[in-house]
Amino acid sequence: MRKRAAVLLVAAVLLSGCAVFAPSCGYGQLKRYETSFLDVFDTVTYVKGYALSEEAFRKDADAVHETLVKYHRLYDIYHTYDGIANLKTVNDRAGTEPVRVDREILDLLLFARSVSEETGGAVDVTLGAVLSLWHEAREYAAAHPGDAYVPSGEALREAARHTGFGLLEIDEEAGTVFLTDPDARLDVGALAKGFATARAAEQAPAGMLLSVGGNVAATGPKPDGTPWVVGVVDPDGGEGYTHTLEIGRTSVVTSGDYQRYFTAGGIRYHHIIDPDTGYPSRRWKAVTVIAGDSGIGDALSTALFILGREAGEKLLLLHGAEGMWVGQDGTEYFSDGFPAYIRDQ
Ligand code: AMP
Ligand code: MG
Repeated sequence: MRKRAAVLLVAAVLLSGCAVFAPSCGYGQLKRYETSFLDVFDTVTYVKGYALSEEAFRKDADAVHETLVKYHRLYDIYHTYDGIANLKTVNDRAGTEPVRVDREILDLLLFARSVSEETGGAVDVTLGAVLSLWHEAREYAAAHPGDAYVPSGEALREAARHTGFGLLEIDEEAGTVFLTDPDARLDVGALAKGFATARAAEQAPAGMLLSVGGNVAATGPKPDGTPWVVGVVDPDGGEGYTHTLEIGRTSVVTSGDYQRYFTAGGIRYHHIIDPDTGYPSRRWKAVTVIAGDSGIGDALSTALFILGREAGEKLLLLHGAEGMWVGQDGTEYFSDGFPAYIRDQ
C-alpha cells in the first residue's frame, strides 16, 4: 500500500512537470517572485526567488520570515517579549543572576567570543556599555537636530571599564548566560543580523536571495544557473553602485561610515567604534566582505572596518573569505579573489 502511494506520488510529480530544477524540466514554468517585510532587525528585508506558483514561493518566504522573527526576538537588546528570555533579559540581570536562555543565544555568544579572540578584541559584543553611550547620543541627535552632543572621553573611559569577555559567563551545560558586572551590557549589532540571516539561508531552498538590511545571502545561483547580481553601495552616497557582484551560494556584507551616524560640530560620528579609542574608527570609509556564511561575513565586515589591511587579510584567509576596502581618499583595495566576483561592464 505504502509502495503504491509512493509510486503514485512520483508519477504525480513527473506529470506536474517540475518538482526539481533540472534543465529537462524547462525553466519556463518557474516564475520569479519577490516579497519584503519590515519587522525584523529594524530594517527592510527582501526575499527573492523562483517557484512554480506564488503559493509555493510564499511558503518558502514565510519560513524565512518566521526564522528571522525568532532570531530577532532572541537577539533584541531593546525590547522584551512575553515568555522569552532574550539578550535584553541578560542585560537587565547583569550583576544579579544567570539567565537560562535558548540554544540560539548560546550559539551566538559562543560565536561572538571566537570572533573577539580572532580579531584581538576589535569586534567584541561585550562593548555594550561604550556602544550604548554612542547609541544614546545618536538618538538624541535625531530627536534634537542642532543640539547634538558627543559622549565625553571621561564617560567613554569609565564605560570601557565594564567591557570584556571576562565579564560574560557562558555555561553551556546549565544553558545560562551571566554578565557578572552590573554595568556591563551586550550589544550584538556587529554580527547578529548576519548570524540570523545565515541560519535562515540554511533552511531556505536553493536559488533564493535574502537581503536583510543589505546583509545579502544567496542560497545558490538562479534555477537557470545564472548568478545573482548584488550592488556595492557608493559610500559617498552617489546614485547607484560602485560595483556589481555576481554571486552563487555565498553572502555579501558591507560596513560603512555612511550608515547610522549623526553630525555634531560639523563632524560625522558613525556607529562602528574602535575599542582602542572609544571613538568611531576613521581608517576606512567602507568595507565589503564576501563569505560563505553571512554570520562570518557580518563579523568580518565590522572587523575589517576597524583593523588595518594586513590584519584584515589574515582574517579573510582564516575564513576563506574575500574583501574590498575603500580608503578615506576613495582608493579601493581588494583581496586576491575579490575581483573575480565583479561583473565585467
Ligand atoms: P556593522 O554594521 O555590522 O558593521 O555593525 C555595527 C554595529 O555593531 C553598531 O551599530 C554597534 O551596534 C556594534 N558595534 C560597533 N562597534 C563595535 C565593535 N568594535 N565591536 C562590536 N560591536 C560593535
Ligand atoms: Mg557586521
